[in-house]
Amino acid sequence: MALVRFYNLVLEQIGGDTDFEGRYDQHRLLHAGKVNDSLKAEAPEKSELAFRRYAKAKELFERKVPRVLSKNGIIVGFDFELRSGHLVVSQDPLLEWQLRVRSEQNWGTSAQQVGTTLAEIATYSVFYSDDETILDSVPVWPEDRKGDAKLVGGFSTLVRELTKGLNVRLNAAVSSISLEDAVAVHTVSGATYQGAAVIVTVPLGVLQQKLRFQPPLPKDWYASLQRLQMGDVAKLFIKFKGGLSPISSDTYLLSQVVSHTSRNLLYYCIREVSASMMSPSVTLTCLLSGPSFEEAMQLKQTGKEALLNRVVAELSQMYPQMQPSAVSAVQMRSFSWNPFVLGSWTSGKVGSSSQDFSIFEPRPRLAFAGEHTCRLMYGTVQAAAVSGARSAHEVLAAGVGKLAPNSWPFFRKDLYTLCDELAPGANEHCGLSCQDQWRADLVASLFQSWRGMTKKARRCWSRLGWRPLSWAGQARKPTTSNKDWKELSFAARAAATCLGFTTQSWEASGLPCMKKKPSV
Ligand SMILES: Cc1cc2nc3c(=O)[nH]c(=O)nc-3n(C[C@H](O)[C@H](O)[C@H](O)COP(=O)(O)OP(=O)(O)OC[C@H]3O[C@@H](n4cnc5c(N)ncnc54)[C@H](O)[C@@H]3O)c2cc1C
Repeated sequence: MALVRFYNLVLEQIGGDTDFEGRYDQHRLLHAGKVNDSLKAEAPEKSELAFRRYAKAKELFERKVPRVLSKNGIIVGFDFELRSGHLVVSQDPLLEWQLRVRSEQNWGTSAQQVGTTLAEIATYSVFYSDDETILDSVPVWPEDRKGDAKLVGGFSTLVRELTKGLNVRLNAAVSSISLEDAVAVHTVSGATYQGAAVIVTVPLGVLQQKLRFQPPLPKDWYASLQRLQMGDVAKLFIKFKGGLSPISSDTYLLSQVVSHTSRNLLYYCIREVSASMMSPSVTLTCLLSGPSFEEAMQLKQTGKEALLNRVVAELSQMYPQMQPSAVSAVQMRSFSWNPFVLGSWTSGKVGSSSQDFSIFEPRPRLAFAGEHTCRLMYGTVQAAAVSGARSAHEVLAAGVGKLAPNSWPFFRKDLYTLCDELAPGANEHCGLSCQDQWRADLVASLFQSWRGMTKKARRCWSRLGWRPLSWAGQARKPTTSNKDWKELSFAARAAATCLGFTTQSWEASGLPCMKKKPSV
């Protein structure tokens, strides 16, 4: 926001100005399939589209999750053992849907793949937290919380301002960076650029898969790097023929109830209307991640028609009156396919720690910037901007080049430190940031889908009596799940050990979600 104001750029507000995701009264939640008893009980309106109050559903989630956690013996706010929200919420469609929406829209990947907690999902991230004490402590955020907005002309308008007067070389893909004598950056086409220092701003995926350093950085550095991950998110654009869109004009956000394994495509969509007064047309932009991303990829590979047919089928379920010919075009785009991005945005894998971000602290002649380097705000544009200012400041302050005091407003200490420090006096929110949040001594497979875990882990869980259906919460859990370590047979203990459990971790406080039947 500060950058937008400084460079006189123009923001176009979309979807209202009350909060992130626009106005609550413009949210629609549909339940297209058979309405089960649990949903019926929740549904304020028992019409054909049985459950349509998105805001109400979100509120219920926020009230229910702490209740479910405490029923399972987990103390909200203190217990960070629980990473596998779906095991607790899988018997309540509403909770499951919210968990799915929140984890995938916040981290760009399934809840099972993220080293985070259900309690945290309930309070969302620091950025979207409703905790005013946090917001008040951060100078730029309260202004940002005025609903969704777009930069008129796109983000390139900001990039143009930031690069004015700089010598930018486009189409120069870097393959390696040498720090041996002079700092040298080598490109794939064979060019070399030398300098006094280098700030590496390639995305996390490129850093993990492509860029080489000479001499290589320490092994621990790479271990931390691999514990961070980029999710996969695609945007699905659905264009309607003029006047034939079934989605009412008072809808901004459209969702339908989905489970954690559902491969439905339309579960988080924004309705936009083209600006043209002559022939306004409606586009639905849906974000796909987790199983929906995989499904869309498969459909896309099958052929363009397959994706279109699937979209029409899902819309017809949600809006039975819609004519199939109402959809004029469907297109899908993802940065995961771009070899210079390779993903959506950063999150920590199960087993990672917020300390993993310390690998991006500056080294002599080498600094890092980009959303993935910003411990407190990663995954956002503001993280990229703040980390860029931080690294430029670090490099200049280390004596490379000249740093005139106040030479650029974003070298203000309270701004360029936003990735690392909250304002003095503010309590750190145990959300995405606390040091002890993601302990490394986890049994990683505990938080993975049956298909997603290694063969060895599947074998060991099978020896403990688990099967795909019980793992998905669709069948009775095996008796070993109710036993303390000392009650386990010798063979079961061996299977648990092969999964990485110790007596302590088997008994650890997070395990009741596995050991007791979730009581929602
Ligand atoms: C679908 C989607 C929706 C999003 N929505 C939001 C949102 O609503 N709000 C929000 O704040 N954030 C959002 N984000 C996240 C946000 O876009 C990113 O966090 C941000 O753009 C990251 O900026 P960056 O500078 O770190 O990386 P990038 O913008 O990816 O810049 C990295 C640059 O490095 C270049 N590069 C890569 N490899 C090389 C190489 N070998 N040599 C030279 N150059 C290279 C790339 O071409 C690119 O220009 C969204 C992301 C996605 C995918």
